[in-house]
Amino acid sequence: MYDPAGMASTILIVEDEHAVARGIQYALQQEGYEVTVARSGEEGLEFATHQAPDLVVLDVRLPGMDGFEVLRRIRAADGKMPILVLTARDDEVDKVIGLELGADDYLTKPFGLRELMSRIKALLRRAYGDFADAGGGRVLRHDDLVIDLERRRVQRAGRKVNLTPTEFEILRHLATRPGRVYTRSELLELLRDYEALDQDEKTINVHISHLREKIEDDPSAPVFVLTVRGVGYAFVER
Ligand code: CA
Repeated sequence: MYDPAGMASTILIVEDEHAVARGIQYALQQEGYEVTVARSGEEGLEFATHQAPDLVVLDVRLPGMDGFEVLRRIRAADGKMPILVLTARDDEVDKVIGLELGADDYLTKPFGLRELMSRIKALLRRAYGDFADAGGGRVLRHDDLVIDLERRRVQRAGRKVNLTPTEFEILRHLATRPGRVYTRSELLELLRDYEALDQDEKTINVHISHLREKIEDDPSAPVFVLTVRGVGYAFVER
C-alpha cells in the first residue's frame, strides 16, 4: 500500500462476475486497501457518486447499465476519481479509447492480478500521491499528516485526529495553499460563513492553539501550522 500515513484508500470494484470480483477484492485487501464490491452498474454508480471512493475498477459488461454508461454518468456527476476499465474484447478497448469517456486506464481480460495492482498503484500515486500537486485534489499529505478534504478527516501518524469544524476549516484553508500567509482577520472572514464566531481576532489564536495541540508533536514548536510573526499563520511549505 502506497499510503505512508496508513489512511487506507477506498476502492470500488464494479463487477458482476463473483470469482473475478472476489479475486480483485482479496488482492487489494492484502495490500491494505478498503474495498467495496458493487454487482451491477446501478449499484456501482450509486456508490461512486455518493461515497466518493478514491478509485474505481469498472467492468464493461454488467447486467442492466453497462460500464460505459456508468463511466459516463460518474463523470457527468463530476466524479473525478481515477477509473480503470476492464474490457473483454478488442471492440470494447476501441470504445474506451475512441469515445474518450474519461477512463484513466484499462485492462483486457484475462489479466494478471499483479498487473492490475501495479496499474492501480500508479493511478493512485498520480492522483493523490504528491502533496505539491494536490491543490485541487481531495487528499492533502504532508509527511505523516493526511487531510481528506471530501470526507473531512484528518490523520496524523496513522491515527485519526478529531478536529472541530472550525479547526478543520482553518487547517483546510492553510494547507491547500502552503506558504501563503493568512492574517487573523482573513481567517476570521473565511470562517464567518461557516460558523458564527465573535469579532475578536484572538478567537483565531485559540483555535490555532487547539489545532496545534492535536496535530503537532510539540505545539510550542509547530512544524505544520507556523506563526508568521506580526502577520498571521501559514502552513509549512515542502
Ligand atoms: Ca462482468
